[in-house]
Amino acid sequence: MRFYQLQRPAPSTPRHWSGSLSAEHVWSLPGVECPTCHETWSGQFALPSVDLTSLSERDLLVEPRVEPYPEYERLASLVQPLLPSGLPPEPGMQFGPLRGTALGSFGPLSARYGWEVLVTQEALRHLRAMGIRGLVPMRAELQGLEAGVVLYELELPLRGLLHSEAVLTGPPCPTCGWHEVRISPTPSLDGDALPHDVDLFRPKNGSTYTFVNERFVEAIAALGPSDVTFREAQVTPESRSGSVH
Ligand SMILES: [Zn+2]
Repeated sequence: MRFYQLQRPAPSTPRHWSGSLSAEHVWSLPGVECPTCHETWSGQFALPSVDLTSLSERDLLVEPRVEPYPEYERLASLVQPLLPSGLPPEPGMQFGPLRGTALGSFGPLSARYGWEVLVTQEALRHLRAMGIRGLVPMRAELQGLEAGVVLYELELPLRGLLHSEAVLTGPPCPTCGWHEVRISPTPSLDGDALPHDVDLFRPKNGSTYTFVNERFVEAIAALGPSDVTFREAQVTPESRSGSVH
């Protein structure tokens, strides 16, 4: 099985589709000002399927901002029980569907950033019909879409690992968890941790990177051009399910 890193095309590449979004996820944890490491930071991790409607303090989770650590920690502790088990909250973490406005026309698959993947309703239907695994679609709430067009953001399962040679990680701050991370722009995947139960994922140690396998690439290619590129990722060591045996 081949694996590919989903990327946005270079700015100089002519685009097939005119679509653009001005939208954010409905809720987010604030960024944090940490008294221990003195970093002010906020991550990019989004969980569109997590619904914070039941929290009485949800209105404090709408305006993106930075809070001192104690207030951040208090809000994070409210959100924690609603997260998938084992996943810790982090500053800037986003929840709920994308909400905002859209302009222009969208291809089958689009990515505003390398970690935000959207498909049209027609593409979602096709991916399901092809048996693509790991689809967690969340309907985006967008004004201005062309008549009849619906976009879904795909929440990416957190699976697999970038190979350790592609990632340099510093020690985490004991208070807020901040740590220096440097990741190769063309990371390889850890062949001992490949996910075999999903066809798209983001690695646990590189959650702003999106990977898909050849099943996904073939399924989406059948729908015509999209404004994304797929860079084949090396797998180190080579997958045991590959040609070795
Ligand atoms: Zn810190």
